Amino acid sequence: MAEAIAEAKRCLNCKAPQCKKGCPIGNDIPDWIHELSMGNIGNAMNIINAKSNLPAVCGRVCAHERQCEGHCVMGKLGDHINIGRLERFIADFDTQMNLTRRPISAKTRGKVAVIGSGPAGITVAGELARKGFNVDIFEMEKRAGGVLTFGIPDYRLPGNVVDSEIEKIKQLGVKVLVGVTVGPDITVDGLFDNGYDAIFMGTGAGKPKALDIEGGDSKCIMQAIHFLRLASMYNNKVIRRRDIGLKTNSRVFIVGCGNTAMDAARTALRLGAQEVTVVYHRGIENMSALRAEYDEAVAEGVKFLWYSSIKSIRHNPEGTDYLLAMEVEGVVTDMPADKVIIAVGSRPASRIVSTTDGIETDENGYVITREYPFGMTTRKGVFAGGDVSGNQATVVHAMANARAVAESIASYVDAINLLRTIDQQ
Ligand code: SF4
Repeated sequence: MAEAIAEAKRCLNCKAPQCKKGCPIGNDIPDWIHELSMGNIGNAMNIINAKSNLPAVCGRVCAHERQCEGHCVMGKLGDHINIGRLERFIADFDTQMNLTRRPISAKTRGKVAVIGSGPAGITVAGELARKGFNVDIFEMEKRAGGVLTFGIPDYRLPGNVVDSEIEKIKQLGVKVLVGVTVGPDITVDGLFDNGYDAIFMGTGAGKPKALDIEGGDSKCIMQAIHFLRLASMYNNKVIRRRDIGLKTNSRVFIVGCGNTAMDAARTALRLGAQEVTVVYHRGIENMSALRAEYDEAVAEGVKFLWYSSIKSIRHNPEGTDYLLAMEVEGVVTDMPADKVIIAVGSRPASRIVSTTDGIETDENGYVITREYPFGMTTRKGVFAGGDVSGNQATVVHAMANARAVAESIASYVDAINLLRTIDQQ
């Protein structure tokens, strides 16, 4: 506490705060830092909550170096305010002390179904519940959180932190129904028949892209999102170590150089891989991973092959299970490998689109949304946001997009209810 307050006191409370400009959700950073500097943590939390439903998550996984902290004027003097750590402190303190009471607004404005409980779904649910809507979240997994629970390793974002954030959303009156897959279990039309005024698709992009090379269907290939999910299940004692499919002392190659690639590389090392090498077809200056994530991966022993790509994969008659034909800066050599983990992005699954009339997608499978009403798909009353609509970036970008869509859903539901009332008169 003393450390956090001392750090907050360094903030200049700038009149035109650059930190806020650097935040995709326009978090009122100086205002809550000022409250913290006076020890008013409840006030600080309320200010944060006006813009964010996931501060304990953002405080841990946001790209602070490129966003708020990267813009802080104190950084020009050599030592930016540690905004991410302060946000995390406030959110964790609030959770531990059960500090802020979340007023449950009267749910009079309408009923909204939210499909998916990742960052976009949680944001829409939280925003609409605060605005007076009845909101039910439908989550196909048995545990809520989506990519926050299954796509980010525990050492970066512990599962109990995500659970606490979801608990706070429930305290706003949101119902979370787990183990229900919209598509096979209940269709979008079925949801409308059950009285929902609008539906939000925040189903993410969980269908990984394949590796189009000779041997690209080898058993040694695994998708990073699948691997991270298995590692998370193992950490939560849902599966056994051997079910992950990664032998200890194995040689692992990771294809791709984003944050998911860093997560997969570090997780493989922590699971006992002997050597983990990231393979990237461009240079370090082009990687999409955060510098801090890269630095930590290097510190843990992850190796990097720049301007490199795997040309083919074949069985190895001796030693490791496979041989990779690896092209490094134009020269192809064989490299022994046991596992190749692919982290080159993903696209949306088509469970909802294929079971619903009228929701159109682009050629890559992303749901097409409109500018007005913002975020509405080609099907009236069905909205989408976050990764499923092609806004694939970071957790906070999905939140920023979802906040705007929530605003639009609120206006849409108000409008249709007004029309219904006029019709009845
Ligand atoms: Fe405080 Fe830095 Fe933001 Fe200025 S830019 S208000 S010093 S955090």
